[in-house]
Amino acid sequence: MAATSKNLQNVLIFKLIKIFIFLSLLSCAREETSRAEFALGTVCTVTLFENGQRTIYNNIFSGLREIEKLMSVNIPVSDVSRVNAAAGKEKVPVSKDVFAVIERAVFFAEISGGAFDPTVGPLISLWGIGGDNPRVPSHEEIEKTLVLVNWRNIELDTETRSIFLKYPGMALDLGGIAKGYAAGVAAAIVKNSNLERAIIDLGGDIVVFGEKQDKSPWRIGIQNPNPDERRGVYIGVLQIPGKENTQQTIVTSGVYERFFEKNGRHYHHIFSPWSGYPSENGLLSVTVIAEASMDADALSTSVFVLGYERGRRLIENKPGVEAVFVFEDNSVRITPGVDFRLTDRTFRIES
Ligand code: ADP
Ligand code: MG
Repeated sequence: MAATSKNLQNVLIFKLIKIFIFLSLLSCAREETSRAEFALGTVCTVTLFENGQRTIYNNIFSGLREIEKLMSVNIPVSDVSRVNAAAGKEKVPVSKDVFAVIERAVFFAEISGGAFDPTVGPLISLWGIGGDNPRVPSHEEIEKTLVLVNWRNIELDTETRSIFLKYPGMALDLGGIAKGYAAGVAAAIVKNSNLERAIIDLGGDIVVFGEKQDKSPWRIGIQNPNPDERRGVYIGVLQIPGKENTQQTIVTSGVYERFFEKNGRHYHHIFSPWSGYPSENGLLSVTVIAEASMDADALSTSVFVLGYERGRRLIENKPGVEAVFVFEDNSVRITPGVDFRLTDRTFRIES
């Protein structure tokens, strides 16, 4: 009798252990459909839908943080900060990723006629953009600082993979391209994990990968770019047909992303490397759609600075790249390959 009750107890314990193991396995295997974390100075949201395995999320977010550590100017030991600290003194060996991004940044500086300029660092610091006390500098200060802004004074040494900024005081700022690079890295992890679909949203730099399960197009809202408007208020929706195993990137540069107001004037974070002031040319935002994430990011900043006519010409020279331009007078212009549906009738599409 005693033995039977002991047996029963054992069986019960054994069963309980089995249930416990089963439950813990279940919770390990439970998949997340989406994860959001703060990285690269913004909220990054990755959606892997029904295939969202924890390890893949972990890989993606550690990849993003790795890139931030290498490229942020706010981290004193980052590769970019070390290059900046050695400006005018010596060349600095950098990681492969950083070298590749700087190389690409210089390429976009060249093809945009200098509108895109990764040496805007001193201007960003002068205006205090992104800091607690942004201010409007004097013309003299701006003139003095502009001397330091010139992408032609970046020297790339492919052999030693080093970067040299020729003059003291020069500083790289990869803010116009780094998020695009990071989005591309995240998309590559998705692809290499053999997932069918994903959305990667790095604070508005969006990559859609693959096709939706029901094969309907991806729908991406375009933010109302008026700085007074709330986040998530869209003027219309881009419809982007999914493509198996292929990524598409949608990046917007706009006056609303980071700005401050002084004496009733609005000062935003994308600068004209010629005037030293926030770029002003009638555009409120430019959205670029392209396969390559880094290119989409650099192009959105380039086109925003170039303005509509020159910017559109740059886009039209690039096969497969499309754009949506939103203007201060609420008009919207789109390139021919875009399926954009306006939902806010205070805006209007013009050809
Ligand atoms: P966001 O970072 O808001 O997504 P962008 O991709 O357009 O928008 O990048 C803007 C950032 O790029 C700025 O915060 C600054 O770091 C940097 N930047 C500003 N002006 C220029 C410019 N003319 N060329 C290259 N980078 C720029
Ligand atoms: Mg950009």
